[in-house]
Amino acid sequence: MRQSFSWKIGRVAGIDLYVHPTFLLVLLFPGVLAGGPLSILLLLSVFGCVLLHELGHALAAQRYGIRTQDITLYPIGGVARLERMPRAAGAELVIALAGPAVNLAIAAGLLTLDLLLGGELFAAGVVGILLRDLMEINFILALFNLLPAFPMDGGRVLRALLCGLMSRARATSAAARIGRFMAVLIGSFGLFTWNLMLIPLSIFVYMVSRAEEAQVLAEEDRRAYGQAGRGIWVAPPGYRWVDMGNGSWQLAPIVMSVSDPRRDAWQWR
Ligand SMILES: [Zn+2]
Repeated sequence: MRQSFSWKIGRVAGIDLYVHPTFLLVLLFPGVLAGGPLSILLLLSVFGCVLLHELGHALAAQRYGIRTQDITLYPIGGVARLERMPRAAGAELVIALAGPAVNLAIAAGLLTLDLLLGGELFAAGVVGILLRDLMEINFILALFNLLPAFPMDGGRVLRALLCGLMSRARATSAAARIGRFMAVLIGSFGLFTWNLMLIPLSIFVYMVSRAEEAQVLAEEDRRAYGQAGRGIWVAPPGYRWVDMGNGSWQLAPIVMSVSDPRRDAWQWR
């Protein structure tokens, strides 16, 4: 699906990659413009790693037959839009871990290369500094994404693990509540340390955790309703089964006549 407001920057494994216009806000990050071409190069490399992180999720999802519509980069990170969320906890666990695993692999790869070269890699002038920063940032990215702040990766891991102990609905509610608590912590941390980009991120986590919780609860409700073994004979709220007398039954809305003298204006006739 075409992302109308974003710029397409490429296509990998059949997935369109986009950059959202608000991404240009990253130029306002502290020290980016002042740091000159090197810090801009570092920033672009970091977002290249964020893109690889999202591709990690997308390719893991593909293993479970879930397509990714597109991947878009925002200043607060990347978003891979999966066509659906896996319902199986095992699949969710693998897909959620695949993103941070990519960052860990990049960091471990750079660190190993430096060790093999006897410390020569990170000592190689400006390129060395850049690669060292990139290694550290990838470690931080992996750890940060593993915070149990549903819907961030760590929160999804937590939900998947909780699914082993309770129903998916309760696991989602618990993970989402912890996610909102984490969002408040992350936002406060951002405010006190003047890491202002953490504030929109915390608002995003707070709002999406609430929206996704509501969506999952509704979905699980529908499933429970369809699978209760009571079949279609359970009337949905506001309906009842009416015997038509000819061997057939019909689902009819329950009509209530409300007559409350104190609230006459509210009567619906
Ligand atoms: Zn991720």
